[in-house]
Amino acid sequence: MSGANGYSILFEPVKIGPVTARNRFFQVPHCTGLGHVRPQAEAAVRAMKAEGGWSVVSTQETEIHPTSDLGPYAEHRLWDRHDIPALQLMTEQVHAKGSLAAIQLAHNGHHAMNHLTRAPALGVSDRPIDVVFPKQARAMDKQDIRDLRRWHREAALRAKEAGFDIVYVYAGHQMTLAHHFLLPQYNTRSDEYGGSLENRVRLTRELLEDTREVLDGHCAVAFRFAVDQMMGADGMQASEEGRAVVEMLADLPDLWDVNVADWSNDSQTTRFQPQDGYQVPYTDFVKQVTNKPVVGVGRFTSPDLMTSLVAKGVLDLIGAARPSIADPFLPKKIEEGRIEEIRECIGCNICVSADNLGVSIRCTQNPTMGEEWRRKWHPEVIAPKQQEEAAMVVGSGPAGLECAMQLAKRGYQVTLAEAAEEFGGRVLKESGLKGLGAWKRVADNRLWDLQQRANVQMFTGSKLGAEEVVELGIANVFLATGSSWHRDGRGRSSPRPLEIRDIPVFTPDDVMEGTLPPETGPVLLYDDDQGYIGGVLASHLAAMGRKVVLVTPGAIASAFTELTLEQHRVQAELLEAGVEIIPLHNLQTADDTGATLSCVYTNRTRHLDCASLLMVTSRQRETALFDALRAHHAEHFTTLELIGDAAAPGLIADAVFAGHLAARNFERDPEAADADWFRRELISLEDMGGA
Ligand code: ADP
Ligand code: SF4
Repeated sequence: MSGANGYSILFEPVKIGPVTARNRFFQVPHCTGLGHVRPQAEAAVRAMKAEGGWSVVSTQETEIHPTSDLGPYAEHRLWDRHDIPALQLMTEQVHAKGSLAAIQLAHNGHHAMNHLTRAPALGVSDRPIDVVFPKQARAMDKQDIRDLRRWHREAALRAKEAGFDIVYVYAGHQMTLAHHFLLPQYNTRSDEYGGSLENRVRLTRELLEDTREVLDGHCAVAFRFAVDQMMGADGMQASEEGRAVVEMLADLPDLWDVNVADWSNDSQTTRFQPQDGYQVPYTDFVKQVTNKPVVGVGRFTSPDLMTSLVAKGVLDLIGAARPSIADPFLPKKIEEGRIEEIRECIGCNICVSADNLGVSIRCTQNPTMGEEWRRKWHPEVIAPKQQEEAAMVVGSGPAGLECAMQLAKRGYQVTLAEAAEEFGGRVLKESGLKGLGAWKRVADNRLWDLQQRANVQMFTGSKLGAEEVVELGIANVFLATGSSWHRDGRGRSSPRPLEIRDIPVFTPDDVMEGTLPPETGPVLLYDDDQGYIGGVLASHLAAMGRKVVLVTPGAIASAFTELTLEQHRVQAELLEAGVEIIPLHNLQTADDTGATLSCVYTNRTRHLDCASLLMVTSRQRETALFDALRAHHAEHFTTLELIGDAAAPGLIADAVFAGHLAARNFERDPEAADADWFRRELISLEDMGGA
């Protein structure tokens, strides 16, 4: 098959030290919120990528010692021999699918909190630990460094025993000791590990040499290195010391895995970095300096871009974290010429948010991500239909589209009705806002799929009432009728409508539908929701010339976006755009003289001049059709199910997931579906011995 479609170069094998990758698709290390806490689910995520054609599949960062304890986050762990079986699950399953398994060993230095182990934090220099917590790391002395090197060697040997083919030394994301030693921002040492670049590189060189020595040609040694911190002259730059590090270590590792730091720069969202391949300008020099293969990242989803990067000698291997999450079968689809079927990452970082919450990974585009083991979901396979023949879906937002698509895949005759003139629901609306254009891919991918299928009928401009649904005579109906934003101010801070009169009031829906607040005076955007949409709307309106004052009970704008690594950029963008931010205040009342705000701590009030309000508070579920059908026509239906935002307003990812779950559960005994909600990984009660 490979070679038939112009992308054959992507399917050439690549030698990485003693091992060979069967093609150029490389899933670089990425977090999953599974790790040592949910190792069976972790193994299944990685195995699915291998099945989908990724020739190398990596773990997330793997703690090598109790002094690098990242708990409560669910990273991987290889502290001692007891951790080997959990990782072996992954290597065995990845090998069974024909791919290589890589492990990213890490000692996180002052980035590790050691909350669980209560070990002292070890750092390159004396300094506070990364998270806000009154605790400091101590500068490692020579014995600490000897210990670290021993721990790393021992962990590498355990990794080999667990069956890994590639073992990483990791100096990236400003999250590991190797990286901290490299960066003057952290390294203030005056011994042979500090000062000159030669000295700051010393620890990394030692770790690479040690790893190479103990693995003795049985596994490849990879080096993950952030060539640029994207801080200009205030940090490491690819054009200066970043390049010098690569020159100094050029052929020491078997593989260079290069990216930018910190994590928020490495995993930029499309909202702030719409360009696929955005890291290439930083990493493209690496191949000129080393003879070893190079893997790089940058949200690659286009096979044309991948092909040209390999052909031009910029990269040997196409690295991906998020594109492999959104579509574990991306390589296979390219190989088989099924390019339109690629489920492109939208760059929303909901996957990242799960890791930051310490829960199983999820993905807006791929509802099966993280569910491979616990629900046995496969991203490309769904059970065929049983007795029922037809199903109807009302509403074509993310829930309706996903539900309709999966039902169609199962083989039902599917009817999809949408009130609006275009399919897409909130995805269509939100993707019209500043920075969210790429989110439209959620609808595009599903619409394309639905349009290919002969067993699907789709109608726009069809707002259905209860009688019309009954008349259609379809016994199974899924209602994905969505939600709309409240205009009256009820939400997180106030369960009841606010006192508002004689002032124009707008909602996010108004703005998304093109009805903007007047230019006559400031718009008070009340962000009681504190999700992403308030900040997006403020930025959107500022770009359209409105003076915006963002009032929020939160301490920062769009507090939720801390989980998606965007908050800093959000607040900076708003301030740069002239948006005034008033944190820690509720909106109390508003009228033609302006608004009264109250401090969330003292209740002290203050007056704010404004000409209009934009209320971003909470959403009203659209259940009228469901309620009418259930109350008056239930006898006509075998299935009547409310899904997505109409059932429980949430993220687009939640709506897609709800649509998927409903389609999977259709024709299952509801009690059985309830009883096996999902498989859990229970803590072993076995006594592990030891102290
Ligand atoms: P979700 O996120 O749950 O998918 P959305 O709000 O994105 O929900 O989409 C809901 C869609 O349902 C909207 O596009 C809306 O026009 C459509 N809709 C709501 N009520 C009806 C109805 N009675 N008939 C047809 N379409 C409807
Ligand atoms: Fe991409 Fe969003 Fe999925 Fe993450 S959650 S892989 S950013 S689509």
